[in-house]
Amino acid sequence: MPDVLTLGEVMACLRADGQVRLGGTARMSVAGAEANVAIGLTRLGHDVVFVGAVGPDQLGELVRRTLRAEGVGIDAIRTDPAQTGIVVFEQRVAGLTRVDYHRHGSAGARLSVSDVAEAFEAIPAPPRILHITGVTPALGEGPERAVRAAVRLARAAGARVCLDVNHRNRLWSETLARQVLTELAAEADIVIASDDELPLAAAGDDEASRVRTLLAGGVAEVVVKRGPAGATVFTADQTLTLPARPVTAVDVIGAGDAFVAGYLSGLLDGLPLDGRLARAITTGAFAVGGHGDWEGAPTRAELSMLDLPDGTAVR
Ligand code: ATP
Repeated sequence: MPDVLTLGEVMACLRADGQVRLGGTARMSVAGAEANVAIGLTRLGHDVVFVGAVGPDQLGELVRRTLRAEGVGIDAIRTDPAQTGIVVFEQRVAGLTRVDYHRHGSAGARLSVSDVAEAFEAIPAPPRILHITGVTPALGEGPERAVRAAVRLARAAGARVCLDVNHRNRLWSETLARQVLTELAAEADIVIASDDELPLAAAGDDEASRVRTLLAGGVAEVVVKRGPAGATVFTADQTLTLPARPVTAVDVIGAGDAFVAGYLSGLLDGLPLDGRLARAITTGAFAVGGHGDWEGAPTRAELSMLDLPDGTAVR
């Protein structure tokens, strides 16, 4: 039985060493919110199935090869006639990254209900957790229906559903985002959002009332990410805030996905609320402290490394 099934678009990514318009060199890798979470989880030893589509091109091969190398199950990644999407990252100044997407009509955006149905049929037993994000339904009607189908199948099979709101304002209008994300959040067991994204997932006048709306509607855990200020988890009978871990931030992109991987890992391991929030905060700090969306994700053995004093050489 897979621990986690997730779905979405994985793109090839280019990380420019300088400004894109000036030319020069770029490093090639892969990126995508759900894929970042998938890799974060496999690094920690969990079994993950990824459902998606890539093009019949070398960038698609790069995506497959990278996910396979990281131990993510890729049997449910279909080859589509459209091209693999591309995302370009340009660190404009320290702490500020410009992101350009080239994903319109891409293979990943042609994810469909049948991709999801086939993936659920192919696995020997349902996943323990379905992880979805707000990025995939924003890609178009087909991916939105695919996400809704995944939620239906997961719930029918008794799997828990985790939604990371992950709002991408360039992909859809705020009105549509609010409508879809509110509906998806109401179906989820765990809702994770940045503090500024929570209004898209639940009605209410302030954070407390939005959290109450979600919990009253059947969500078991609401997790609010607060960047360098840490994160808070709310359940029906507990509220717990932990500060971020002190690290020198070199690349904040991917912190949210790394955080989600840590949180779900803690949940899969049966850790109590404080244990899973602490693991999420730790994996978030690893992402911020290293370069790349997922490259710096810790293995299980590395989780305790941040407990060592600054300047330690691990020999
Ligand atoms: P992104 O969209 O860039 O991936 P996000 O907005 O989804 O990020 P953040 O709240 O920025 O998520 O970060 C997630 C978690 O990562 C935070 O809750 C915190 O634990 C950790 N984190 C973020 N920034 C820092 C930082 N500067 N130092 C240490 N930890 C951080």
